[in-house]
Amino acid sequence: MKIRFLIVSGPTIEPIDPVRYISNYSTGTMGKALVVAAKKRGHAVDWVSCPDGAKTARELLALLKKRITQCDVLVMAAAVADARPAFYSDEKIKKEHLRSIRLVRNPDILKSLAKKKKENQVFIGFALETGNVSKLAEEKRKRKNLELIVAQRVTKNKSPFGKTRYDFHLMDASDGYELRKHETKSRLAAVLVRRAEKWFSLKNS
Ligand code: C5P
Repeated sequence: MKIRFLIVSGPTIEPIDPVRYISNYSTGTMGKALVVAAKKRGHAVDWVSCPDGAKTARELLALLKKRITQCDVLVMAAAVADARPAFYSDEKIKKEHLRSIRLVRNPDILKSLAKKKKENQVFIGFALETGNVSKLAEEKRKRKNLELIVAQRVTKNKSPFGKTRYDFHLMDASDGYELRKHETKSRLAAVLVRRAEKWFSLKNS
């Protein structure tokens, strides 16, 4: 069974002026591991690596709206900037005027794509939480209409970014819960590809 994966990874960025932007600490490591794992299993992979593949949240949404119809499984591992500056300045803002930046919320890409989701498509998302990880992630999974969500707890002393081992909470649409402790991202990626295969078979049988 060959599945068409659409894997989206890395940070989006939101320009303030020609020399500055807002972004986050995402490195795209998880996405790269997923691409390797899916190819190893013989699947077709369409990879959008941000910010090269799409810079801003709005650019990414427009791109994914076009590509989503050609995939069986969407894995949304991108760290989308939640907000962007309300105004972009064509001129470099003089530092004397850099006091505050008014922000506006970005669109929720998964929520928006969920509206056009086909019955036989599988969507997988990620969540970083500081509070009750499993409760918050399960709510998020339902809100974004995902078959599976992978949640990580962020604490003051431990960062999930880059090539690090971490504890991953896997929650799926059949109430399945699995905690994978101190797991590498490449091992997790292999597990997620197998999970995607199972969901795809279930939805296409
Ligand atoms: O709501 P939150 O940002 O915690 O959700 C995380 C999941 O939603 C990730 O899979 C991320 O790629 C996706 N996301 C999105 N659009 C946003 C923010 C996050 O699709 N604006």
